[in-house]
Amino acid sequence: MPSLTDPLQSLKGIGSQLSEKLAKLNLFTLGDLLRHYPHRWEDRSRFPRIADVRPGDSVTLRGIVIATTTRYTRARLSITEALLDDDGSAIKLIWINQPFMERTFRALATARTPIVVYGQVKRDSFSGSSYIYEIQNPEWEEIGEDTDNLSTNRIVPIYPATEGIRQGRLRKLIFATLQTYREEIEDCLPPRVILNHRLVGARNAVENIHFPESEPALIAARYRLVFEEFFVLQTLLALRRRENCHDVQGIQFKVSLEELNAQIAQIVPFQLTRAQQRAIAEIAQNISTGRAMNRLVQGDVGSGKTMVALGAMLMAVQNGYQAALMAPTEILAQQHTLGLERLLEPLGIKVEVALGSLTAKQKLALRERLLSGETQVVVGTHALIQEGMDFARLGMVIIDEQHRFGVLQRQALARKGTRPHLLVMTATPIPRTLTMTLYGDLDVSVLDELPPGRKPIKTHWRTPDKRSLVYSATQKLIEEGRQAYIVCSLVEESEKLQAKSATQLAEHIAKSVFPQYRVGLLHGQMKALEKETIMAQFKARELDILVATTVIEVGIDVPNASVIIIEDADRFGLAQLHQLRGRVGRGEHASYCILVSDPKTADGQARMEIMTETQDGFRIAEEDLRLRGPGEFFGTRQSGMPEFAIADIFQDMAILQETRETAFELVERDPELARPEHQPLSKAIDRLKERIGQVHVS
Ligand code: ADP
Ligand code: MG
Repeated sequence: MPSLTDPLQSLKGIGSQLSEKLAKLNLFTLGDLLRHYPHRWEDRSRFPRIADVRPGDSVTLRGIVIATTTRYTRARLSITEALLDDDGSAIKLIWINQPFMERTFRALATARTPIVVYGQVKRDSFSGSSYIYEIQNPEWEEIGEDTDNLSTNRIVPIYPATEGIRQGRLRKLIFATLQTYREEIEDCLPPRVILNHRLVGARNAVENIHFPESEPALIAARYRLVFEEFFVLQTLLALRRRENCHDVQGIQFKVSLEELNAQIAQIVPFQLTRAQQRAIAEIAQNISTGRAMNRLVQGDVGSGKTMVALGAMLMAVQNGYQAALMAPTEILAQQHTLGLERLLEPLGIKVEVALGSLTAKQKLALRERLLSGETQVVVGTHALIQEGMDFARLGMVIIDEQHRFGVLQRQALARKGTRPHLLVMTATPIPRTLTMTLYGDLDVSVLDELPPGRKPIKTHWRTPDKRSLVYSATQKLIEEGRQAYIVCSLVEESEKLQAKSATQLAEHIAKSVFPQYRVGLLHGQMKALEKETIMAQFKARELDILVATTVIEVGIDVPNASVIIIEDADRFGLAQLHQLRGRVGRGEHASYCILVSDPKTADGQARMEIMTETQDGFRIAEEDLRLRGPGEFFGTRQSGMPEFAIADIFQDMAILQETRETAFELVERDPELARPEHQPLSKAIDRLKERIGQVHVS
């Protein structure tokens, strides 16, 4: 029996060498191959004439290469050109600094092999001639004879990165798989959903996504597959949510909001914002129902999420339970511990910190105090879960900066003890539009208001040659009593190199730039105690300048620091830059963020421009997603979020909404997916879970 779960090698023409290459694309079975969707399509049923194209057009052209040259500019760039001709008109194909292209194209010219090129037409930029246009860095493909008409005379699929497998080869493999295994394609969508939403069937969709009969057939196929992808995810979330709401018995807390607010007012030196109060009230409401809480608190950097956590902890402690707060970094865990100690110990609540770096003896003692219930609040990094802390009565779990943990990890901790209430807190990196996709199984509280009196952070982008001006402006601020962060450039290769680069920068700053000031250094390779000491000194104003790596990226709170200089800012992603910038502007002082960079790419420039234009974290997150694409945005490994195979969060937002409603309705009607017509869906969900799981483990 042929099956789509068969390994690739069961297809004629796929040997071990090819299957290894395909494995690099994460393709292992024939089903995987069919789910390897094109990322765009070219209509090669007719080609425009080269004579008719105009600058600005994105075109697919067919022709023969008639000449090639490579020359060098004064700036030592190599420019390789090939002339593509279709019956008398020609266009230039150009590659910069890829002299090896000349050999390839000379061979094509000699053999007179027809090729197809794709790209955007521009005016000639180098020789200044005005009668010939050019395409820089075109995508191209030999089409040769193409007897089976997979690569010409039709709408042709173009696949994403192919790791040394030619497009034509991939088309042939997928076409062959479709021919043999067509009947094995199962429709995971329930018939009723297909009917109500006027979707095409799975077979039709898979065939037309790869080899569209026509443009409308392609559009219908894509719609169907996007729908399917979102629908399966939303059904999974609906199932989880139902489980959260209905089945899981939680601990019932009694909360008097009035008393709680009075208590907070007694220990906190400011008034809570309305948004903070609302979030706390929503939590109180949630945990007095007897069902386990699953709530997300979403608020931009500096919106005061810690106070919401404080409220939730107090609720637990007053009911005789313990609370645990997890942070993504040791530094942040330490900062939370210090802050909470100061606030809570006057109330007689014992706060402790659990870090990976505690000695065995310390860990043992801590474990005992947690088991006996003596320690009511514990703060830690995720070492907290990994080392299996046991609690006497854990009632509230709070995860700070959720986007740094796997989505699944939040459940690992929630499983400890008797299903404690769960609160996850996240700053922006999730655009509004995505919240429900990622956290559709949680209730959401939004902190849409900053504490009063914040001044906007003035953000400037400066090229490295202006660095001395940046330093003298910084000096002025320090003279006024403020403090500064200097973030060293990002070294992705290794933590060690990153630490070295931070150390060198700190030395340089202390010796040659600001010998008159007290300069501290903070990086990820330092011991927990060292980090703690440095942070404490900076907080106590015993240091004027802190040179640091991205360890300060999340959560660090020193309101007197009013300027952050970010070296080689274009190496950082937008979300990261926004988080870093969030280290300043946390008090009443006017604050500055200086991006020092000379971006080499358009992308890098765009990031600098967005940063100087807006401070709205939600907008930045959306731009980030747009620039990077969702796969990278979630950072597959960290988020546990599956990459979408075909759906595009922005383009397909309406479909996302549609699937969400449909999926939640379906789960309402058949909460166990027990009906026979829901079996294929149930299997698809298992596959998705497995995929999320795999992503998470790796
Ligand atoms: P987040 O975690 O959301 O980035 P924090 O909880 O660290 O923000 O709070 C940022 C800063 O604002 C802290 O210095 C905190 O003490 C202060 N803060 C929080 N809430 C208020 C408020 N209601 N009024 C004034 N300051 C506040
Ligand atoms: Mg925070």
